[in-house]
Amino acid sequence: MAGMFIDVQVDDAVAEDRELAKKLVDVCAVDIFAQTDDGRLQIIDDNLDECVLCDLCIQAAPDGTVRVIKLYDS
Ligand code: SF4
Repeated sequence: MAGMFIDVQVDDAVAEDRELAKKLVDVCAVDIFAQTDDGRLQIIDDNLDECVLCDLCIQAAPDGTVRVIKLYDS
């Protein structure tokens, strides 16, 4: 949809948990998540517009710690 873009927010506690970070990297089919050398979660901003709103990342983490937010150009 034209004019829509996505922001993905992850709580620090999840981003710093390398097991959860790895899980997020694994579930997202469009590579919005990556890990730094020390295992911390990274969000790849350039890939955010590829998000297919599958909610797998939300399901992979504790309730409320990962948020996929739809933003619209006004
Ligand atoms: S909703 Fe799906 S495509 Fe979007 S960031 Fe989460 S896992 Fe990736």
